[in-house]
Amino acid sequence: AMVTRFAPSPTGMLHLGGLYAALFSERLAHQSGGVFYLRIEDTDQKREIAASIPGIIDSLAYFGIRCDEGIRGANLETGAYGPYLQSRRAGLYRVFVKELLRRGWAYPCFCSEAELERMRNLQERSGMLSGYYGRWAAHRKFTLEQIRAELERGRPYVIRLKAPQAAHARIAFQDQIKGRLEMADNFQDIVLVKSDGLPTYHLAHVVDDYLMGTTHVIRGDEWLPSVPLHLQLYKALGWEAPAYGHLGPLLKQEGASRRKFSKRKDSDAVTAFYQEQGYPGEAVVEYLLNLLNSNFEAWRRQNPALSWEQFAVSFARTGSGGALFDPAKLLDVSRNRIAGYAAETVYEAALRWSERWNQDFFDLLRCYPEYSVQLLGIERDSAKPRKDWAKWSDLKEDCGYFYDELFYGGLGEGYRFPAELEPGAIREILEEYRAIHGEYRDQAEWFGALRELAGRLGYARDLRSYRADPAAFRGSISQVAMVLRVALCNRTATPELYQIMRVMGPERVRERLERCLQ
Ligand code: ATP
Ligand code: GLU
Repeated sequence: AMVTRFAPSPTGMLHLGGLYAALFSERLAHQSGGVFYLRIEDTDQKREIAASIPGIIDSLAYFGIRCDEGIRGANLETGAYGPYLQSRRAGLYRVFVKELLRRGWAYPCFCSEAELERMRNLQERSGMLSGYYGRWAAHRKFTLEQIRAELERGRPYVIRLKAPQAAHARIAFQDQIKGRLEMADNFQDIVLVKSDGLPTYHLAHVVDDYLMGTTHVIRGDEWLPSVPLHLQLYKALGWEAPAYGHLGPLLKQEGASRRKFSKRKDSDAVTAFYQEQGYPGEAVVEYLLNLLNSNFEAWRRQNPALSWEQFAVSFARTGSGGALFDPAKLLDVSRNRIAGYAAETVYEAALRWSERWNQDFFDLLRCYPEYSVQLLGIERDSAKPRKDWAKWSDLKEDCGYFYDELFYGGLGEGYRFPAELEPGAIREILEEYRAIHGEYRDQAEWFGALRELAGRLGYARDLRSYRADPAAFRGSISQVAMVLRVALCNRTATPELYQIMRVMGPERVRERLERCLQ
């Protein structure tokens, strides 16, 4: 069984790139009967954004990413390996830093920012390899007395790794996604603990992934160049390193170029955007699975009824390059998912969504549960099923006219009748229909009555009769239906008229006819 984790820094809301990485880790752990946990990497306190932790937790839950352990909310966590918030683990890191100092793998460096800046400039100008060289490297060799003297002078310091200085050393390692890789070993004395006493990502994640029992570290491949450094740290601490899998980034098209999703740049990349728009969580997840593993689409076609949780992801099926996110494809996936739901399911989902994002719609759905299920159902059962719902926010716009509150509250203003009909002709059709309005046994009986009415008023003529007597030709029966449709719905595109009348019921239909005739 695998133990994996998602370890975002709380510097913004969860974005699709993060969700992509979290989903893969979660699947790997759960399909193997293992554990998936959420750790918050908040050691860069300058960049922290207050609401991002609850935001990340909320989004993971919305998209069905189950965390067995980790942060659950402010001051709330589950699991035996905590704390899962790095800022609460400062004492723990200190223990291991002391161990590194004792073993000669780390040293305090008293260089000021200004000195470091000068050093960097010097390196740039001299074309020297980057690294921690020059006269400042003297700190590496400080004796205990020298260190004590600096500390007594109150000099701020960072703790650096004492990296091996073997020039041109190379290491090879096996990446779960990218395969066997060989690269230059690390020779830089990178910072392990900053002057504020908090560790950098490098040290913190090594300590945490070890102590928390992570078997597989799955992360974005922007971390690939740091692998030699991380392996050095494991070695220095005398621990076996976990397996690493570096995921190609989820990319976004921007003009002619592509770039990584980033929480700092894209508000529509942030998963809260998809929550607010009401994309079903599973549609987003399925689309991401599709990008993650090349065989997902075929699996879905063969198993239309199974939950995505039954699909097994694999490292082998994961491309090592990046994956391009296509919003139009997501809409397609979402439409297909929603088209497969029963009306009750649509109702429940719309209720949950609107409770948070559209209070007015929520009130209507809650007040008229049966009516709502019926009207949501016809949009789907009619001869030409509507395939255009991709998100819950589409529903209100599409079905709002069914609700009297919305119809009489604005949607029914300014009837849009067919332009080719005179007001007098429209009135005639409505009055005549009112006279035959009632309850019909079925659609055939109703349609018979409508055809008879249309014929009587001169609308049902076919092309042949038009040629024979153009003067008597007034139009087709569909114009009559359109007049009724507009009177009842004030829309020109709706599902079948009979289905609409059946759901609205005779009383409501009569009311709407009367109002239109006023
Ligand atoms: P920032 O937006 O501040 O650069 P980030 O989004 O990379 O940060 P986190 O939210 O902390 O940072 O990332 C959590 C995990 O998600 C990391 O393992 C990171 O590598 C991974 N990740 C982030 N963006 C992507 C992406 N576009 N594709 C794949 N994985 C990603
Ligand atoms: N907090 C790290 C980041 O911002 C997480 C990387 C990892 O998953 O180890 O990318």
